[in-house]
Amino acid sequence: MKTRKIPMRMCNGCMEMKPKKELIRIVKSPEGELSIDLTGKKPGRGAYICKNVECLDKAIKTKRINKNLETSVDEEIYKRLKEEIINE
Ligand SMILES: [Zn+2]
Repeated sequence: MKTRKIPMRMCNGCMEMKPKKELIRIVKSPEGELSIDLTGKKPGRGAYICKNVECLDKAIKTKRINKNLETSVDEEIYKRLKEEIINE
């Protein structure tokens, strides 16, 4: 049996390492613009979060995404993240 290496990333809510596929990526483009990256392929610096509202709320409270990406995250991004999580 082949063992494939699964890329792991840390959730900004619960701070646990999870397979990249199970997380949502928030990306800051080289121009400094934030977006939600569902393909995992957008260029730029990324922060990750589990697909659950609890982790999102934690990340909002601790402002960990802001710190991680060294930018401010507007309400709009959080709202869209929440929608993505709920619609999953
Ligand atoms: Zn989490």
